[in-house]
Amino acid sequence: MIFRRPRKPRPTAQPDIPEGLWIKCPGCKELIYRLQLEEHLWVCPQCGLHFRIPPDVYIQFLFDGGIPEEILGMDLYAEDPLSFPQYQEKLERARKRTGQPDAALVYTGKIGGIPVVLFATDFRVLAGSMGAVVGELFVRGAHLAIERRTPFLALTSSGGGARMQEGILALMQMAKTTVAVNELQDAGILYINLLTDPTMGGVMASFAALGDLLIAEPGALLGFAGPRVIQQTIRQKLPPGFQRAEFLLEHGLVDLVVPRHELKSTLELILRLLWGENHG
Ligand SMILES: [Zn+2]
Repeated sequence: MIFRRPRKPRPTAQPDIPEGLWIKCPGCKELIYRLQLEEHLWVCPQCGLHFRIPPDVYIQFLFDGGIPEEILGMDLYAEDPLSFPQYQEKLERARKRTGQPDAALVYTGKIGGIPVVLFATDFRVLAGSMGAVVGELFVRGAHLAIERRTPFLALTSSGGGARMQEGILALMQMAKTTVAVNELQDAGILYINLLTDPTMGGVMASFAALGDLLIAEPGALLGFAGPRVIQQTIRQKLPPGFQRAEFLLEHGLVDLVVPRHELKSTLELILRLLWGENHG
């Protein structure tokens, strides 16, 4: 007879914007009125904590007019090559919640009048992890940017890294997306990473760290293995703030840490300086 320990429901990370009129900030524990948070682009007015928000909310304040011109990737569905237990069920639940087939989409639009292609991962779908669909969409987005000669932006929120449910096919996406970054470079296309909390694992170890500019949100956790795993492996205490955006800025991995309400104006300036004059 096999005894199985009853599975306790695991507390999930907080992938969605919290419900309710009053929201307790996980940073300072203050109760904040929802409308006030919305007006502050989901940044706590008390302590500055940046709440995790889905790509469509970013689009609302980053793109001119607040809406994308096109959305690509609504027709790409993941295979289940390993028949991994509960993979399809998890995907199906996430699809119902988000209305999109997988953890990434490609959007086109303008920022400060300059056309861009923006690829974005969505934490709400299996922690924004990268399987074959996410990798393929990154490549399609990059190719579209090359074809139209527009800057390419990758906005990431990926706690899961490469998606274990797709095994080697997920790991392969690290090489595949890296090749696409090389193609962007060969074509002289500006490629910018927008790193939000968290961007980890195979995502951070491939396309998310390869941009011409790496822009991170304050406090974002960015790295390959998480701090706990590293601490257990090397058996040393890690310095305060390890793998946070500010720490990585100090150590040269990240180029800029930009608060959310300055993200659009910063991008407009960068695009104008690095792209607009020559290509606009
Ligand atoms: Zn707070």
